[in-house]
Amino acid sequence: MKALVKKKPEVGIWLEEVPVPTIGENEVLIKTIKTSICGTDVHIYKWDKWAQKTIPVPLVIGHEFVGEIADIGKEVKNLKVGDRVCGEGHFVCNFCPNCMMGKKHLCFHTKGLGCRVPGCFADFFALPAENVFKIPHTIENDIAAIFDPYGNAVHTALIFPPTSENVLITGAGPIGIMAAAIALKAGAHQVVITDINDYRLELARKMGVMNAINIKNTSIEQKSKELNIEDGFTIGLEMSGHPNGLTTLLEHVRHGGKIALLGIFPEEFAVNWDQVIFKMLTLQGIYGREIFSTWYQMVNLIESGLDLKPLITHHFKAEEFQQAFDVMLSGNAGKVILDWS
Ligand SMILES: [Zn+2]
Repeated sequence: MKALVKKKPEVGIWLEEVPVPTIGENEVLIKTIKTSICGTDVHIYKWDKWAQKTIPVPLVIGHEFVGEIADIGKEVKNLKVGDRVCGEGHFVCNFCPNCMMGKKHLCFHTKGLGCRVPGCFADFFALPAENVFKIPHTIENDIAAIFDPYGNAVHTALIFPPTSENVLITGAGPIGIMAAAIALKAGAHQVVITDINDYRLELARKMGVMNAINIKNTSIEQKSKELNIEDGFTIGLEMSGHPNGLTTLLEHVRHGGKIALLGIFPEEFAVNWDQVIFKMLTLQGIYGREIFSTWYQMVNLIESGLDLKPLITHHFKAEEFQQAFDVMLSGNAGKVILDWS
């Protein structure tokens, strides 16, 4: 079968012929329909410091997918060949105290699909049956293919209930934009999203997030005044992975405010802790999705009218992967889909 492989410890991804994986008795074999490219895959492509210390080479990469079950292990119940599925890309141990308490998203020993175990950028891949999430007929393939990052957005946007709150989001990448749209759908009073990339801010507006500002030419004070946000922001979401994003939130989230952080910072940096302490701020890191409570929220939000389609900006065949990665590298892209069917 064909697969996109991180073959060598250098910049690039390679399309290779590799064997179809064999499955264990509690696993399923998935025939890939569509995948989407994550920022993580771009880190792996670029072979930056994070990738160098995380990714074993060679490895089939990719973790955002929709597919169809092609084979099931003999112990697998409740799933059958032909089911259209998506799945949780974090493989948990089931034995650590957090797993025992049902908090699988806090597993001590999580392994990531396409990061530590062979991923989904392939004609077929194996997944533990307990990671499979069946896709209702109401969800089309393009949307199911971005369920993984969409789940990050739902998890982050709803960790502090946004209803009637003023929410400030730094970073208008696809997950930041989705988080903004989710906060609005959940009844936030005002949602302001910031970035320095006009393409992405325009994409946010296409998703109905009208208060999308380029902080190079519009200040948050200016925008707040325009929106009559007199009392400041009560919730901040850091989605940029840039130190300035957090610095901005610490400044603009008011006393007693709450900040959730999803963006991954490339390295350590100094934080003005006075703002955290004297404003009594709450900081909450976010990783992945709650297994599977976030997934049910994701389906219900879409079934109740949340439209993610404008966020999908590019489609390529799997063989055109180089063009797809080039578009991702340019920064002028929303979600980029690869078709494996
Ligand atoms: Zn565990």
